[in-house]
Amino acid sequence: MSTPEPIPNPEVKYTQIFINNEWVNSVSGKTFPTINPYTGEKICDVQEGDKADIDVAVKAAREAFALGSPWRRMDASKRGLLLNKFADLMMRDRVYLASLETLDNGKPYINAYGEVEFAAKTIRYFAGWADKNVGQTIPVDGDLFAYTRHEPVGVCGQIIPWNYPIPMAAWKLGPALACGNTVVMKPAEQTPLTALYLCALLKEVGFPPGVVNMVPGYGPTAGAAISEHMDVDKVAFTGSTEVGHLIMEAAGRTNLKGVTLELGGKSPNVVFADADLDLAIEKSHKAVFDNMGQCCIAGSRTFVQEEIYDEFVKRAKERAIRRVVGNPLDYKTESGPQIDEEQFNKIIDLIRSGVSQGAKLQCGGNRIGDKGLFVESTVFSDVTDDMRIAKEEIFGPVQQIMKFKTMEEVIERANNTTYGLGAAVFTQDINKAIKFSNSVKAGTVWVNTYNETTVAAPFGGYKMSGLGRELGSYGLRQYTEIKTVLIRNTDKNS
Ligand code: NAD
Repeated sequence: MSTPEPIPNPEVKYTQIFINNEWVNSVSGKTFPTINPYTGEKICDVQEGDKADIDVAVKAAREAFALGSPWRRMDASKRGLLLNKFADLMMRDRVYLASLETLDNGKPYINAYGEVEFAAKTIRYFAGWADKNVGQTIPVDGDLFAYTRHEPVGVCGQIIPWNYPIPMAAWKLGPALACGNTVVMKPAEQTPLTALYLCALLKEVGFPPGVVNMVPGYGPTAGAAISEHMDVDKVAFTGSTEVGHLIMEAAGRTNLKGVTLELGGKSPNVVFADADLDLAIEKSHKAVFDNMGQCCIAGSRTFVQEEIYDEFVKRAKERAIRRVVGNPLDYKTESGPQIDEEQFNKIIDLIRSGVSQGAKLQCGGNRIGDKGLFVESTVFSDVTDDMRIAKEEIFGPVQQIMKFKTMEEVIERANNTTYGLGAAVFTQDINKAIKFSNSVKAGTVWVNTYNETTVAAPFGGYKMSGLGRELGSYGLRQYTEIKTVLIRNTDKNS
């Protein structure tokens, strides 16, 4: 099926804070601008929430969660039905949502269009779980009848990033609402618009007031207010490892709220000499360059076995040069601009460090034009593990290609990082694939592919890449409290 035309200048319909199913201005009266990364121009001003607004939102979420409330009394299957209707509306408004995302984020429309469907699928997946998150009856010793209830945790704070705004909202709302929680979400300050539009859809579907509240604003103010809040029961965060530390600290300092984290990565992508080279080149390219490199699971350390190293570098360079970078509304475009100046400057700084530390710049390395934050598709060869570009998360279109000799060596080098989000291996030998998969410390391992994420399988990181898992049945656990009920029963029989 072909992709319908985008809306070139989508009308922005919602710029206020969403609390109790109403649109309100910030308590402080402050607003902040959101910028189109393609033109560098302001799209509009958005109400800027901070601590005072988070307090109001948490109060609304707490009331919506009160015993006897419409949300708590609702059949679990009805929660599933509402979620399915929400997914229907996302698909109804798919072109608008994707166009709005391209405007606010700069990503190619064709990708944003795909992401709306992925988000809707996520919501549908969790809709199905709403009445299946069952407890147990347990044959305990003694005169007791024992069972467990899988209860919602309560008020969930959710802080999401700018790289995949619609899917990130869906990954967090889906399990939270399926399990019967209420939500206070903060979208990233770079990309608040689609998250706000999703709230209009939630209201249209008929979620009761206070079940989902959306407070746009900045991290150190609105975000910190969520993680420090004494009446937030759980916080789920996706973003940088640096801020992940702050979220855990805040939880520890305050009410020991549950914490789940999806953080950064420096994922190894290992290509053995026996790999299907055409496949490995293309997948390794996309592993780094898709979404302009702004992807937590980017395959940003490409390890290539020495026998094929030179050939791989030559073809990786050719592929990078062929990559179409430009207007995100154009269907041929594979990459748009980077999200903002801070990220852009960080990428350019890391590219410079690669050159000065002795890596070989095969192509790219510069800004493209002076309008929009475009970075040339960049490939480095002769990269060694001690270079900054081999250690730090670049979050940009920069491929590092390292050489290795043996399986043992590459396992050790792949694991020699504080991160552990993704990993991949390209080989035709099943034994090599299994050995590498079992030895690498990463939450997801791909064999002969990369970047495949499916809603039914869990996603998350080892080490400093995160805590807990999202998606799949494992994702429900993070939004469920397990209660044991023991009833005296003097008439017990097997
Ligand atoms: P960030 O971690 O600063 O922002 C992510 C979210 O956290 C945003 O909503 C932000 O407002 C919020 N936030 C920021 N400071 C906070 C605080 N003190 N308390 C609570 N919330 C806070 O990420 P960034 O600055 O946008 O990007 C920086 C780096 O983060 C990137 O270079 C990349 O390495 C990483 N990143 C990772 C992901 C991911 O999917 N894992 C996504 C975006 C960025």
